[in-house]
Amino acid sequence: MKIGLFFGSFNPVHIGHLIIANYMATQTDLDRVWFVVSPQNPLKPKKTLARDHDRLHLVRLGIGDNPLLEASSVEFGLPKPSYTVDTLAHLREKYPDREFALIMGGDNLATLHLWKNYEFLLANYDIYVYHRPEVDLGERAAHPRVRICEAPLLDISATYIRDCLRSGKSVRYLVPDAVFEYLESSHLYRK
Ligand code: ATP
Repeated sequence: MKIGLFFGSFNPVHIGHLIIANYMATQTDLDRVWFVVSPQNPLKPKKTLARDHDRLHLVRLGIGDNPLLEASSVEFGLPKPSYTVDTLAHLREKYPDREFALIMGGDNLATLHLWKNYEFLLANYDIYVYHRPEVDLGERAAHPRVRICEAPLLDISATYIRDCLRSGKSVRYLVPDAVFEYLESSHLYRK
C-alpha cells in the first residue's frame, strides 16, 4: 500500500487541503493520504496556533467517513521541531510493509533545498507536487522522483479563515460542515 503524506499545521484544516488530499487519493497511484499534523514547536510558540489536539480533532472532523484519508498525530510523539526526513524514518520503521511518499505544493518544491537532508528525500521518496498560484516549479520538476499533478487550485488559506473567525465573519463552505459546526460552538481562533 502506498501512502501519501500531507504535512501541515492545519490551523485549521480547510477545503483547499481536503480537495488536494482527495485528488491525490483518487487520481494518482496513491492508495491513501495521511494528514500529518505538525505539533507546536516549543522553541517557537505561535500565539495563533491552536492546540495540537484541537487541530487533529478538526482534521478528523473534516475527513469524516472518507476511508481513503486519515489524520496522523505521529509527530506529536517525536522530538521537536520535527523534520520530515526523521518522521519518514520513524514511519518506515513502524510500518515496514507500507510505502510512503510526500505530497507538497509547488512552493515547497521550490524551496526543498532548505529542508534537512533534502537530497536523501529526493533520492528515496516519490514526491507528488501540486501547483500553487504564481510559483515557478523550476528544474526540480523534471526530477524522476517528482510527479507534477494537475489538482484544482483553490485560493484560500488557514490564515484567511482565522482572520474571518477573529472578525466574526462566517467561514461556512470554506471548511467542511462538521468543522464549521465545531468552530461555531467553540472559542477557537476568536479573540
Ligand atoms: P496558513 O495560512 O496558516 O499558513 P495554510 O492554509 O497554508 O496555513 P498549512 O497547514 O500550512 O495551511 O497547509 C498545509 C499544506 O497545504 C501546505 O503545504 C500548504 O502549502 C498547503 N495548502 C494550503 N492552502 C492550500 C490550498 N488552498 N490549496 C492547496 N494547498 C494548500
